Amino acid sequence: MTFSARPRKQFGQHWLQSETVLSKIVEAAALKNDDCILEIGPGTGVLTHRLLSQAQQVVAVEIDYDLCHKLVAKFAGAQNLLLLQGDFLTMNLTEKLSGSGFQDPNKVVANIPYYITGPILERLLGTIIQPQIASFDQIVLLVQQDIANRLCAQSGTKTFGGLTVKVQYLADCEIICSVPPKAFHPPPKVWSAVIRLSPRPFPLQAQDPQLLQQLVKLGFANKRKMLRNNLSSIIERSQLLALFEMLNIADNVRAEDLSVAEWVSLSNKMLEQGHLT
Ligand code: SAH
Repeated sequence: MTFSARPRKQFGQHWLQSETVLSKIVEAAALKNDDCILEIGPGTGVLTHRLLSQAQQVVAVEIDYDLCHKLVAKFAGAQNLLLLQGDFLTMNLTEKLSGSGFQDPNKVVANIPYYITGPILERLLGTIIQPQIASFDQIVLLVQQDIANRLCAQSGTKTFGGLTVKVQYLADCEIICSVPPKAFHPPPKVWSAVIRLSPRPFPLQAQDPQLLQQLVKLGFANKRKMLRNNLSSIIERSQLLALFEMLNIADNVRAEDLSVAEWVSLSNKMLEQGHLT
């Protein structure tokens, strides 16, 4: 059974209509028959339907009460779906899952509401200071193209920013494909992209994650300035330049020129040398 629903702007509702994109999303998640999938914002259930047929269990969190009613009817026979009505950002998932017969999800697959992309990413991955410990094998999401570009950016390019470092410290990030506005109803104003994040501990760990987070925040505060100027409030210039030299980093670099590993090395060296002002 299918149903239609008038998209609500306040919940960032854009129904995915393209079968091709749905296939790409599902393919990117490499679903196995013992997977338990977390879906954020099932909407009218087009993606949910595909997930249910290929995974063992699906836990779907939908904020829209009316949609939840329709979803319950649509998937009435599906034993492997747990539909939870509520706000994903504040929901205590562990509590809801305990005693439900549903496992902790090992993958996330979702066409998420774009207006809360940042907070969703933070909930799924954690932060530099508090990485999400019970994390996922894989997270496949539809996001805005410009966010996808920033998440997956290489250092030395303009799109590489604070968000890139924060997310790449916690996960490998890849763009699977770009998605045009016409793949949705109603079409969003911007292009979208399917991305895949694979959470993992970064090969080089920050000795002081708080310091790394602070450095990244200050370093990217003014992208037009050289890094040494952005960091002048935290470390004296001569000492910073000495650290740059030890790490083989040029004096005049900008924040986006340092790789994630170099950001970690810089924070670790700073700590080791005890140069903080
Ligand atoms: N996955 C569907 C719908 C995507 S639109 C599709 O591909 O067609 C985004 C969905 O997220 C909507 O159903 C919206 O109601 C839901 N949503 C918005 N904010 C939410 C929140 N805070 N928690 C859970 N779901 C939310």
